[in-house]
Amino acid sequence: AAVKRMKQFTADASHELRAPVSLIRTTAEVAVMRERTAPEYRDALEDILEESERTSQVIDSLMLLARADSGTESVELHSLDARNVVREAAEQGEKLARTHNLKFASEIPQAAILVRADAEALRRALLILMDNAAKYTPTGGSVQLKLVAVNGFASISVADNGIGIAPDDLPHVFDRFWRADKARSRERGGAGLGLSIAKWIVDMHGGVIEVQSEPGKGSLFHIQVPLDHNVTD
Ligand code: ADP
Repeated sequence: AAVKRMKQFTADASHELRAPVSLIRTTAEVAVMRERTAPEYRDALEDILEESERTSQVIDSLMLLARADSGTESVELHSLDARNVVREAAEQGEKLARTHNLKFASEIPQAAILVRADAEALRRALLILMDNAAKYTPTGGSVQLKLVAVNGFASISVADNGIGIAPDDLPHVFDRFWRADKARSRERGGAGLGLSIAKWIVDMHGGVIEVQSEPGKGSLFHIQVPLDHNVTD
């Protein structure tokens, strides 16, 4: 099963890289085929730049997952107040929402919520969820980030009122390279790796990541990280 998984991973990774590289190449080939005007060259270069940036992101994600699989990528858990991580994530969420013309709200409690976490990694996981919420919510919609402490866990949720996910698709969303709508979500920049990275991060925290969603109504992603009961550092 492991070999089969590895083969599938390599095949998917090659496909994800071949598609943008061939797009970059075709754009450049068409541009140099004959003399072009300055705006035409600019257009071609902008397309190439955008597609190269996406490709770099896919490569970064693939490298991270490869390091995670080989055990060389890890998280460093420290005792920290989850509110600080969520506050920083909220600043990023606000910016994202502004770019996508969405409303953004965050809810952070008054009292400290101590967890053992890697602040950078946890923020990355939250950014993946908010980035998805922004990508899959039409203009005018809203995104909410909320932190609460319940039953020994810090519970962080990202809710949107976007396109939602079909019930049959829900079990697959955390799989590598999985996308509900291959063509459309690639257009939005995704290779289907974000949620598998978020899940790896949450797993490394001894936590749980879950999703509830309804097509046309929206999605609720939910991360739970154990509270830190014996503060030592
Ligand atoms: P991608 O880079 O394609 O967004 P992810 O692993 O982050 O990859 O997500 C996998 C797929 O799950 C997405 O392509 C999309 O179909 C679906 N998805 C994730 N988040 C949401 C959301 N908030 N609303 C609707 N669909 C979502």
